[in-house]
Amino acid sequence: MLSTVLPVLLDRARLYRAVQCAGGPVPCDRLAEQLALPASHARKLARELCRAGFLRELPARKAAGARHPAFAPAEPAVCTLGVRLLEDGVSLVLCAPDGAPLAQRLLPHPAPEEGAASVRLLDAAEALLAQADRALLGVGLTCEGPVVLEDGLLRPCRQYGGLPLEPLAQELADAFGVPVFLGNDAQCGGLFCLHRDAAFESGISCYVAAGRSILCATFVDGRYLAGNSAAAGLLGHTSLSFRDERCYCGNRGCLEGFASTSLLESSRGGLLLGGLRRSMRDVAADYRAGEPDTVKEIDNMAGFLAMGLVNLVNLLNPGHIVLGGEFARLGDVMKTASHAVLKQRVLPEAFDTLHLEVLAPPFDEMAAGAALGAFDLALAQKKLAQPGA
Ligand SMILES: [Zn+2]
Repeated sequence: MLSTVLPVLLDRARLYRAVQCAGGPVPCDRLAEQLALPASHARKLARELCRAGFLRELPARKAAGARHPAFAPAEPAVCTLGVRLLEDGVSLVLCAPDGAPLAQRLLPHPAPEEGAASVRLLDAAEALLAQADRALLGVGLTCEGPVVLEDGLLRPCRQYGGLPLEPLAQELADAFGVPVFLGNDAQCGGLFCLHRDAAFESGISCYVAAGRSILCATFVDGRYLAGNSAAAGLLGHTSLSFRDERCYCGNRGCLEGFASTSLLESSRGGLLLGGLRRSMRDVAADYRAGEPDTVKEIDNMAGFLAMGLVNLVNLLNPGHIVLGGEFARLGDVMKTASHAVLKQRVLPEAFDTLHLEVLAPPFDEMAAGAALGAFDLALAQKKLAQPGA
């Protein structure tokens, strides 16, 4: 079964994480206290996780005159797979249900003589699973997006090895017999932030995926703002110069025309290898070494990206912006430029309450977010399968 829904089940994920981190059985009353939940609710959630195969319930123990069951991680341990389609390959991240990466792999597009792209992808996924030695619960598939549902059909921007998203998702579902979650890079990066940072659960928070495209996922009190036709967040197509060149979207002077890994690639005479990520770190190294052309180009793009963030802040007045994607691999460069431009160009009331983070973990947070989407979907489906629960 395929789904583009974002079924965020944070309480369950946090409860699972608390049990996982405890390293042994945890009594339900302690879980309730730790998660600030009523004991009966914590017990209900833990039992849902037991039925879904994430936890196991241990015999009750006496405590404070009441009997409290304890919960421990189920065996075998479970995982979900996040698959992110890139221009030149695919990024795979296998995650524990709390989003902790267990194994990752960057797989370039196959040459024609190497056989079907989907076969290579399935082989790579199976190798990762064997490495982690865990049961697979679901697969999350993400691409640049937007993934828009139109008359029941998916309209993604990105393909893998000539395969459009939906047939690829169906192949993964058939091969592994698990549900497949479909998202776009901004949604999935945002989902990763939502699971990682409780601050994303209240107020307005944005995750910006800045790479070839500039996409923004907005969360209002923890709920994803999809837009009227699921196409919200095209920050890269906000105009910075309305008399400038016409973009393919129809608008003129779009942000993506000023800051994009596509522009970096064309100035370097070809695709940045390795799914862009590693080579953006090379670009960052050139920048730090003071290579003049790189410094000029990156300073320029960082400034334009920051202008895009100014528009975002003026429109939404978010409390949090997390900048991720390939440009975040530039680290301090992006942080410094964005901070300076925002301070100069937005009202103090909006700037003073804004927390800006540049996120560059040593794994693909968008693929990890897709894996978390798969975790939520698998859990939701298993719960739905047990209506009496
Ligand atoms: Zn445009």
